[in-house]
Amino acid sequence: MSEHYTTLSTVDGEHLATVRRLLADVRSVPALSERYAHLDTITDVADLAKVPVMLKDDLQAALRHLKPRATTGTTWVFQSGGSTGSPMVGYAPTGLYMREVHEHWGALDADDVVVNAWSAGKMWGAHYLVNELVDLAGCVAMSLGAIMKEEYSAWFDFFAERGVTAIGGTPSVLRLLFAHAREHGHRLPSLRKVLFLGEAWDSRLDEDIAEVAQDARRWGMFGSTETWVMATNTPDCAADVWHLMPSQLVHFGEDELMDFTSLKPDGLNPVLRYRTGDAGRVVPCPCGTDGLQVLGRRDGLVKFRGHLVNVADLIAQVSDVDGVQRAQLVVHTYADRGAVLEVLLLAARDMADVADRVREHIVASAFGPSIVFQRVPESLRVTVADALISNDRTGKTANLVTRQHS
Ligand SMILES: [Zn+2]
Repeated sequence: MSEHYTTLSTVDGEHLATVRRLLADVRSVPALSERYAHLDTITDVADLAKVPVMLKDDLQAALRHLKPRATTGTTWVFQSGGSTGSPMVGYAPTGLYMREVHEHWGALDADDVVVNAWSAGKMWGAHYLVNELVDLAGCVAMSLGAIMKEEYSAWFDFFAERGVTAIGGTPSVLRLLFAHAREHGHRLPSLRKVLFLGEAWDSRLDEDIAEVAQDARRWGMFGSTETWVMATNTPDCAADVWHLMPSQLVHFGEDELMDFTSLKPDGLNPVLRYRTGDAGRVVPCPCGTDGLQVLGRRDGLVKFRGHLVNVADLIAQVSDVDGVQRAQLVVHTYADRGAVLEVLLLAARDMADVADRVREHIVASAFGPSIVFQRVPESLRVTVADALISNDRTGKTANLVTRQHS
């Protein structure tokens, strides 16, 4: 069997006991018991190859049945689901498992003055888990949360005055903040660290950060509400390469799709070969050790008027057009006519013709639906916007948004 498991630490007897507990938990869920019935027990890490992969819906079904409770402290419930469908929840005990991250990452120390710019509230976890991390670092912390564009300048003045050394948020939010600061001449000479979590790093942040805070470097965390923080990286690492926490076991299946097993003794979510949807592989990291390169989701294809559109590829193509700062795709579907693909753009100033150039670029390219746009010009719309469409709760900006019109 070509399948293999990898972990940064040795899997010991205690870890295997945790895996057996996870198996007993999922087996006790009526909706899932049959799938796990063929398994006797797990005595070796290789036995995990026999365990079926668990998808998002399976984990949610298990949580609905198990209703886990922390053995000490409070049981926190967070949610990560989008605005549609039933919310995806995740449980964690007080501390949100951040002690392990604190011990292995080293992003923050007691001398830091940290701004937490992940949006707060609505049961999204990022803001709160970062508060747990700063608590462990014993530094100075400011819980900023989401702010409006009109407030940016006032806050940057405040950060500069306070000698802020670290700021963290989703790359979407960081990009808005640093682009604004660059454009308006704000400087943060004390800033050393830019923390990110929730989305892939946006390489165009590097340019803006270099102007605003030349000594600042990026520090990343990777995870989800179901798995919590699974991996981190440092400024010496590639932005898309991660180093797993010792409590994480990863496995690479078909199409390099990853599944994770949590070895946390106090883990509340039954994360047993849980498939996040991300693909990945082990690569040498520039920091000198092997790391996990996250290749993104394998489900980034959408059907548009019968043609498959690779969302990430199209965004990358459009982003290469001079004057485009950021792009987002919106697929509009109408009851009485064909779908429209709208490309929303954030454009640099003095780029009046950017929409026309993006349109020409798409229509002239050989990619899937260009034939549709040549035939039905109104099926493509290119709009320069003040802001992209983002999730009010998390501040995340998806590459693809869909809109139904009656
Ligand atoms: Zn590295």
